[in-house]
Amino acid sequence: MATKRDYYEVLGVSKSASQDEIKSAFRKLAKKYHPDISKEENAEEKFKEVQEAYSVLSDENKRKQYDQFGHAAFQGGASGNPYGGGFGGGGFGFDPSDLGDIFDDLFGGGFGFGGSRSSRRSQARRGGDTLIHQTLSFEEAIFGCEKDFDLDIVEECEECHGKGGFGEHDCSRCHGSGTITQEQRTILGSFVTKTTCPNCEGTGKTYEKVCSHCKGKGRVKNHKTITVSVPSGINNGERLRLVGKGQAGLNGGPNGDLYIEFQVKEHEFFDREGDDIYLDVPITMVEAVLGCKKEVPTVYGNITINIPSGCDSGTKQRIKGKGIKNASTRRTGDMYVIYQVQTPKKLSRDQKKLFESLAKTDFKDADIDRFERFTKRNDK
Ligand SMILES: [Zn+2]
Ligand SMILES: [Zn+2]
Repeated sequence: MATKRDYYEVLGVSKSASQDEIKSAFRKLAKKYHPDISKEENAEEKFKEVQEAYSVLSDENKRKQYDQFGHAAFQGGASGNPYGGGFGGGGFGFDPSDLGDIFDDLFGGGFGFGGSRSSRRSQARRGGDTLIHQTLSFEEAIFGCEKDFDLDIVEECEECHGKGGFGEHDCSRCHGSGTITQEQRTILGSFVTKTTCPNCEGTGKTYEKVCSHCKGKGRVKNHKTITVSVPSGINNGERLRLVGKGQAGLNGGPNGDLYIEFQVKEHEFFDREGDDIYLDVPITMVEAVLGCKKEVPTVYGNITINIPSGCDSGTKQRIKGKGIKNASTRRTGDMYVIYQVQTPKKLSRDQKKLFESLAKTDFKDADIDRFERFTKRNDK
């Protein structure tokens, strides 16, 4: 061990310094070298040195022994120690609660920001939510389905039961409080803020042996396959929420939720609007004029419908109950067929003759009559 500096020298006080002078010197130095505040090099070592010096000189008994025997007074059961064993077997049992008091003192006791002391300590926190995306076919969405999902999910480590290690101790950095005190100087004055201790992540605990399975995190990412029953009627962009299937909670907090967001593929013929289905049905001019029975598809199989005579292109017909049976809304939609009259582009010679003879006949149509009357009026 390198030569120890004299404790009075460390604190920069004289051998005859009063307790007040010692305390005041320590406060100054603690502020200067506190590892959470200080930007000095070797701040942590210096801070320890200052702590050690203060722990001896602030205690009148220890100070007397130090004055008499120097560092030898505290170097364990070995040589030259008339008290046989020094204090605490040579280690510096610096009581962190002392330091806490000093810091309360040091920073004015009250905390302007960051809540009360130890409020975050071991606080149970809910695990995060997980969102995954899944594409469904048109039919899967309509009828519902069982789906297997492969996902990486953060779960509590089964080896250490979420603790992150074995052999629990108070964290040495925050002395078990779970928070770090920091002073910030601004033009408005000094503010003391408390942040979560990065060493123990706010739990206030560290462990003798870090859990190798989770590397101390207490949680592990597991690859899992889960089977989810997708209810009928799921629509594009809708989410399914699986309560408690998200990431594991912290410190006994509840798990987050798993959300599955669905993308539903479009169908070649069926269009969906809410729980209703729309279907364009192309029909010939003759079918439109004369009317007919026609077989049309529905998502539940084909049905035969009656197309009325004189059917205009774009006419919509409702077929009740052939829409989507939605498990979430418990509503059953309808299906709408929309007739699209197809004007023939290629005619056989015979068909052309038939159209030509039709053209010589007079089709009575109120709309056409009205339009023609307007056209004549318009001709100036
Ligand atoms: Zn800590
Ligand atoms: Zn573990």
